[in-house]
Amino acid sequence: MSIITEVVDTVRALAQGMAVTLSYIPKRKLTREYPDVPVELYPRFRGEHFLARNEDGKERCVACFLCSAACPADAIYIEATEDLRSYEERPGIENRFAQVYNIDYGRCILCGYCVEACPKDAIKHGHNFEFAVTNFADLVKDKNYLLTNYGRHEGAKPEGNFVIRSDS
Ligand code: SF4
Ligand code: SF4
Repeated sequence: MSIITEVVDTVRALAQGMAVTLSYIPKRKLTREYPDVPVELYPRFRGEHFLARNEDGKERCVACFLCSAACPADAIYIEATEDLRSYEERPGIENRFAQVYNIDYGRCILCGYCVEACPKDAIKHGHNFEFAVTNFADLVKDKNYLLTNYGRHEGAKPEGNFVIRSDS
């Protein structure tokens, strides 16, 4: 490619970009008055994860490490163990379960690969997007926190600062 062609292409790309920018200047501005007015999220929005339970209240995670292996950001830390008690007595659907299951939201890019990799539908995205904390350590969410998220995955959080859109 000659230098003249490169210059022409660059100028054209700049002009196209500026045209988009300038077209927005006269338009009416929208201010989202969050958190006074709830944010509208699509059902497919990938927010903070939750660890799911089955219909008996048992943890679905069997500590297979597939989510951790699929994670491109190395954000999931798991320690597996076994509970050889009967189904009624143990916490999980199988003897093997995650004794430790942490997600580091300082690393997570909410790509969803872990959700796709899970063979037990144990890890899913919820809708919470409020991750702001005052120190890095608080960005690491442990198993109990992620299990607690299970209760609020389908709709608005108790504080009601977001709603799920009906269109997809
Ligand atoms: S959403 Fe992506 S980056 Fe975050 S824990 Fe899952 S695989 Fe890792
Ligand atoms: S969340 Fe799913 S993929 Fe990850 S360790 Fe548990 S069962 Fe395996």
